[in-house]
Amino acid sequence: MSDPRLLIDQPLSVGARITLDEAQARHVGTVLRLEPGENLRVFNARDGEWRVRLADKSKRALSVEVETLLRPARETPDVDLLFAPVKRHATDLIVEKACELGVRRLRPVLTQRTIAETVRLDRLNAIAREAAEQTERFDAPEILAPVLLAKALDGWDPARALLYADERGSDAQAPWGGESGRAPPIAEALAALRGRAALAVLIGPEGGFTAEERGMLRALAFVVPISLGPRILRAETAVIGALSVVQALWGDWRAGA
Ligand code: SAM
Repeated sequence: MSDPRLLIDQPLSVGARITLDEAQARHVGTVLRLEPGENLRVFNARDGEWRVRLADKSKRALSVEVETLLRPARETPDVDLLFAPVKRHATDLIVEKACELGVRRLRPVLTQRTIAETVRLDRLNAIAREAAEQTERFDAPEILAPVLLAKALDGWDPARALLYADERGSDAQAPWGGESGRAPPIAEALAALRGRAALAVLIGPEGGFTAEERGMLRALAFVVPISLGPRILRAETAVIGALSVVQALWGDWRAGA
């Protein structure tokens, strides 16, 4: 098993001595029961990943000494995820899986059918940090404060295409809007976006987007409607499916990326 990994928001260089924060000290000292002299890894997006030695362990503090650089930092692809917060467990899952799947930024957006009343940013940040430590990336994704969908779209940088996961057709009488007006498959949309430096993915709430939101989104030039296939997915499944395809066809799952 490889040495445990900790995200450290301090400069890392040979010989630096770092006092771990309370939660990390508890994890290393009480949960993992590491003793002075044992190794672990620390990392951040600026300085990369380093091997450190547990230097000092007392009841009140725990410090490590930085030894050698293991890997220089590598950027995650410039993919943002905009998602409507759902129930707590599903929202936690969205954050964890988006981090594992290499999203750089997460933005909760409040849509007309969003039912989640509160978004605990501290809790979501803790989940993202833990996932980053576990998943061998160099940064934890940034989690922005929730905003209304219209506000998130206002002042959007048009260089960043927004893949809008739209499960519906346009026929108001047919189940799921029928077949007319369905969005093209995600793979087709991504083929046309090859060479773009930045993307974002938008996934709706349990109840989907309203007709008004759908009309607003489809009218924007930077919005690219996409379909994730003929089945209606739960929001968390849609996040995982869409991000996997984005990384495979556009991001860093490609050979040589
Ligand atoms: N509108 C449905 C409803 O009323 O229950 C389902 C919404 S679905 C649970 C949540 C979100 O996942 C949707 O808003 C959409 O962004 C995405 N989604 C789910 N299945 C999809 C599909 N087949 N194609 C595109 N997006 C999908």
